[in-house]
Amino acid sequence: MTVNKKQKKKRNRILVALGIFCVLEVLEIAGVFDAMPNGLVVEFAAFLVPYVIAGHDVVRKAWHGIVHRQPFDESLLMTIATMGAFLLVLFPDAQPHMAEGAAVMLFYQVGELFESYAVGKTRKSIAAMMDIAPEFANVVQEGDLVQVDPASVAAGSEIVCKPGERVPLDGVVVAGSSQLDTSALTGEALPRSVEAGARVASGCVNMTSVLTIRTTSAFENSTVQRILELVENASEKKARTENFITRFARYYTPIVVGLALAIAVLSPMLLGLSVSASVQSALIFLVVSCPCALVISVPLSFFGGLGAASKLGIMVKGSNYLEVLARVDAIAFDKTGTLTSGRFGVVDVHPSAEIDRDMLLSYAAHAEAYSDHPVALSVVDSYVGVIDRSKVGDVKEVGGEGVVASVDTHRVLVGNDRLMMSEGIEAPTCTLVGTILHVALDGQYLGHIVIADMMKDDAKEAIDRIHHAGVKRTIMLTGDREEVARAVSEELGVDEYHAKLMPQDKVAFVERLLAEQPEKSALAFVGDGINDAPVLVRADVGIAMGGMGSDAAIEAADVVLMDDRPSRIASAIAIARKTLRIVWQNIVFALAVKIVIMILALPTIGISTMWLAVFGDVGVSVLAILNAMRCMRVRE
Ligand code: ADP
Ligand code: MG
Repeated sequence: MTVNKKQKKKRNRILVALGIFCVLEVLEIAGVFDAMPNGLVVEFAAFLVPYVIAGHDVVRKAWHGIVHRQPFDESLLMTIATMGAFLLVLFPDAQPHMAEGAAVMLFYQVGELFESYAVGKTRKSIAAMMDIAPEFANVVQEGDLVQVDPASVAAGSEIVCKPGERVPLDGVVVAGSSQLDTSALTGEALPRSVEAGARVASGCVNMTSVLTIRTTSAFENSTVQRILELVENASEKKARTENFITRFARYYTPIVVGLALAIAVLSPMLLGLSVSASVQSALIFLVVSCPCALVISVPLSFFGGLGAASKLGIMVKGSNYLEVLARVDAIAFDKTGTLTSGRFGVVDVHPSAEIDRDMLLSYAAHAEAYSDHPVALSVVDSYVGVIDRSKVGDVKEVGGEGVVASVDTHRVLVGNDRLMMSEGIEAPTCTLVGTILHVALDGQYLGHIVIADMMKDDAKEAIDRIHHAGVKRTIMLTGDREEVARAVSEELGVDEYHAKLMPQDKVAFVERLLAEQPEKSALAFVGDGINDAPVLVRADVGIAMGGMGSDAAIEAADVVLMDDRPSRIASAIAIARKTLRIVWQNIVFALAVKIVIMILALPTIGISTMWLAVFGDVGVSVLAILNAMRCMRVRE
């Protein structure tokens, strides 16, 4: 555990006060004060010493609150209670309570110190994991390698990344091959091999050999920068439970002070109890009602939950989304890029009579040259010839259908049967299972390319685990053919599938699902953001694939999976549920213990002592904090 300077100072102060306190307590028990002529005065002054050493800042804070008209916080509760304990000496019929006054302050401070350790530790472990910011980029200038600020490197520049260095910017490898440690981004322990042509994300560490990388974005749009922003903003979006606790404390404290006053004033009048006994009950009531256990442990739990998720490469954009994730009982998935890898292989090419296979592929690849759709990227990848982008113009992408572009002087269409239909072109049906890309040239049908996508290797496991976690309904939504959708959903064990959906159909479908959702349960949508960003926004919680997904998706989503693995969804739900379980355990436990001690402190019962109250309060805080820290721990 690392301790900063301020904590160290406070710790030393508390230790000194504790030492003095123990000596005084022994003297008191031995009857030394009683034997003195002015014993009570000496004892009073003596116990004031550890009280002031340990608690002067609390008293100051309480005073500060009063001056600034925001008096109702724990400092005030503690100050009134402890000073009250000292002042009980003014009642001739009461036992002296100076020792308790000092003890309450001391233990309260021990609790506070512990709490600041816990918060510091949580923050630190998240920060350590978030230690992904690159310090420099190597660029070649006049034949020399020079280290420059990554923010000054333009997109499209070439940079050199040596073994042991962090990849400073997103890009594509142009020379070299190496192993990358991606664990800081994705939580994945296995290194990833990369070679020329591979995309690399900033924040990974290059492990084995030199890579030359052409950057694809400027630093402000890089993966690293996006993650850092996500994490910074996340803790500001408070969960409802968290807001509830803050509001609760605001009303609760004045009520408690009022009740304490009522106990002190009314019970002698109504119940005929002695004033000193009533005041004592009121003081105990104040100590025990301190809400610190909740005020600290609830935000700490959510913070820990966010941290645990990010250790697995799950970026949750706010505590409120953890709350929603915990309630998810239906999940809708996009197919391409979400459950399947989105890297299609060409299964077959069926040209019509007038054209050869390579020409067909060439037209398709040119028309797709500017599209980011996984289908397009795969066609471009599988075309062996050179793509001359200068031949391509007038590109129009029709979401859920395909592209229209001019290549040379021809008007080329590449897309599914819907695209062909809308252009009045007759397209044959193909019996092969796969996604069919029909190609047409100047209104003439040219043939089709059959491509197939591979399932992500953890897709089946993901669906199993999601079902196992108690999610009742899994639904796959796709713009692809019925045949492909059926094959994929059967293999994965998805409950329902709906094919041939246009992007706007997906929105309508999700609206319908939302309307069918039972109260209190939530619907998640998982997509890669290629034309499903609107759906990500509509769902109760939108989950995007961050690695290959578009920037729009990462913007629109509430949760981003850095490594694109659907099985992380089950982990995210598990973390969210665990966090909420711990939050509620703490709320119930803290309130229960406090209510019991409060009841025991009522003047008519009067079993609680100040000692019990302070141990109750500090004990509950410490246990609640320890419990909250469990949120940080992750099991794969
Ligand atoms: P999914 O719902 O599976 O993610 P999309 O809605 O993105 O799929 O696309 C649905 C279908 O539209 C694809 O299966 C493909 O047939 C066609 N399509 C979309 N974009 C393109 C494109 N750029 N080129 C060719 N076909 C496309
Ligand atoms: Mg898609």
